[in-house]
Amino acid sequence: MTSPLDRLFLLQEVLLEVHQKTERRDKTPDHLVHIEAAYRDSRRQREAAGVVLSQAEERKKTLDSEVEDLNEQLKKYQQQLQSVKTSREYSALLNEIDGIKREVRTREDELLSLDETVAGSSTELDRRDEEFPAEEAGYEEQMKEWRAEQAVLDAEIAQANARAKTLRAELEPRLLKTFEQIRHKRAGVAVARVDMVGPQTAACSACHVRLRPQLLSDLRLSKETVFCESCKRILYWIP
Ligand SMILES: [Zn+2]
Repeated sequence: MTSPLDRLFLLQEVLLEVHQKTERRDKTPDHLVHIEAAYRDSRRQREAAGVVLSQAEERKKTLDSEVEDLNEQLKKYQQQLQSVKTSREYSALLNEIDGIKREVRTREDELLSLDETVAGSSTELDRRDEEFPAEEAGYEEQMKEWRAEQAVLDAEIAQANARAKTLRAELEPRLLKTFEQIRHKRAGVAVARVDMVGPQTAACSACHVRLRPQLLSDLRLSKETVFCESCKRILYWIP
């Protein structure tokens, strides 16, 4: 027959197992870390080339339409030139026209350099797209054993979680709540076994502080939950 504390202690073991296995599953083994980093880096660079390309294309579109508008404006001014009356108006208009021509030239220069950017990143993107399937396959191949280990851990974690759920359902809510509160404050360990360190001397196995004789006798007799006076964990006494 198991007591509530037996079940609580078991629940703690199961939860610690979940925690430990989750950490293991989520941490890439040392010998694979650089492989993973290289693969991620390559993916990042491929994405970056795509971003550069689409930004350059976007910018080109904007500039093209601006050049178009400026050329329209230029045409209008040039038509107005035919009909101006004074030389002051004429030179003012010429000034405007020069200004617009400069604006067009600046944009055309930028468009030329954007063409180079587009060509460069397209080439890079093509190359990366071509290399990518092999790269990915190689990566997955090297990761295969680890992926299988992760799958085993996943299954074990799911099993342990199911077990924890069953155990929780069997426990009294108030005790469970106390357990959870201490567990979160004390790195997952809320229930500490009591160790006998001498014929009549016991200590908390978590903080190693000795129990007062009174507390030990409480534990031996008590139906209540007894807490370590030093670390405040629930004491678990196995006669
Ligand atoms: Zn303690």
